[in-house]
Amino acid sequence: MLKIYNSLSRKVEEFIPLNPPKVGVYTCGPTVYDFQHIGNFRTMIFSDILLRTLMANNFDVKSVRNITDIDDKIIKAAKEKNLGIEEFSSEFTTAFFNDLGKLNILPVDVSPKATEHVTKMVKYIEVLIKKGLAYIEDDGSVYFDISKFPNYGKLSGLEKRQLKTGTRILSDEYSKEDVQDFALWKSISPSEVGYDSPWGRGRPGWHIECSVMSQEYLGETLDIHAGGIDLLFPHHENEIAQSEGYTGKPFANFFVHGEHLLVEGAKMSKSLKNFYKLSDLEDKGFEPLSYRYLVLTAHYRDKLNFTWESLQAAQNALNNLREIVRGWDEPKIGCAEFEQRFMQAINNDLNTPTALAVMWEMIKSDYPASAKAASILKMDKVLGLKFDGYVGKQIEIPDNVKKLVDQRENVRESGDFELSDKLRKEIKGLGYELEDTSKGPRIKKLIT
Ligand SMILES: [Zn+2]
Repeated sequence: MLKIYNSLSRKVEEFIPLNPPKVGVYTCGPTVYDFQHIGNFRTMIFSDILLRTLMANNFDVKSVRNITDIDDKIIKAAKEKNLGIEEFSSEFTTAFFNDLGKLNILPVDVSPKATEHVTKMVKYIEVLIKKGLAYIEDDGSVYFDISKFPNYGKLSGLEKRQLKTGTRILSDEYSKEDVQDFALWKSISPSEVGYDSPWGRGRPGWHIECSVMSQEYLGETLDIHAGGIDLLFPHHENEIAQSEGYTGKPFANFFVHGEHLLVEGAKMSKSLKNFYKLSDLEDKGFEPLSYRYLVLTAHYRDKLNFTWESLQAAQNALNNLREIVRGWDEPKIGCAEFEQRFMQAINNDLNTPTALAVMWEMIKSDYPASAKAASILKMDKVLGLKFDGYVGKQIEIPDNVKKLVDQRENVRESGDFELSDKLRKEIKGLGYELEDTSKGPRIKKLIT
């Protein structure tokens, strides 16, 4: 049984899709005005683990993650560089997909772009106006009237927030505290980037983009809507208002949110110089997969504090794991006990730290290497650490160890068992273990 924390009920709930075995999952994707930072990728890894877990539970998953390629920031930055918005944003979109690949994040089924769905957005807004949920301002902007949607605040807990009646916001940068009518359509001057609409030239608001693109590909009610915790309010609250106002049906049965990444104990910001892209990690010699491993060591609903030391520890663990699994035999029937405990952990609200601990326990257990090999490959379908490239593959032994192994073979053949033992200990001191087989010595990396 898969259990997931639902932000709507503020409880861990059993996950049951609307039309099993089909599951529709929407994840809010990036706004492509810059390279994504490692905090954004923490959310993407969390969403990937969610999708992989659903697949491991034999659900037939359809996943959608949008690209926000039109918003105030993109328009402003493109203007500064004297580029068209598509020309400007395509570099960051390409970089985003490259980074996803490096982190072994599985491709989603649909990656819709906001700019390709503007006509649908206009039609959607027309319906909201007809239903009396939205109003047109004199300048041609259209706002959602939150006073007409009684359920407004069900996700974020409206009573805790300040309702600023009569105030409206046009910008994409929202106050996290104040509740206001929000723009569905923003009027613009003729010189700006925009689209035609019944209300004049303008461009869509950020929230309407996600309502339209999610429902376009997943239907009126999504099984799961995922995203970073910073999107819970107002973005997801506003998506609910638009979508449920439009259909009269629940928008998503589960809202699942991933927590923030801190860097050296502080929120990431360009001014604090603790703002890292994936390429900054690579420039320091780290593999993107070491970052993935680091992210998995924390539960997705806990804050994770990134430090270079913690990344180094993750890289070491990953290197160590690879060396261990290289020494294993061909995969055969796995360790059912550990596989079961692994799935229990992952099905308990995606508890990756416990799942990793179960994996390590299995590695250190007395099960035959061929069984461990089979199990780790199964576990890796969820973890995504690419062990398939290493299991049973030839171990890479440093030259100094190789020399000692050869030397030991010679003295052993000559019958000097005392020296042979001494050399075996020396090899062990370097982190390798020798096993004498009929085909000669077999070298294994010691688990540290
Ligand atoms: Zn969104």
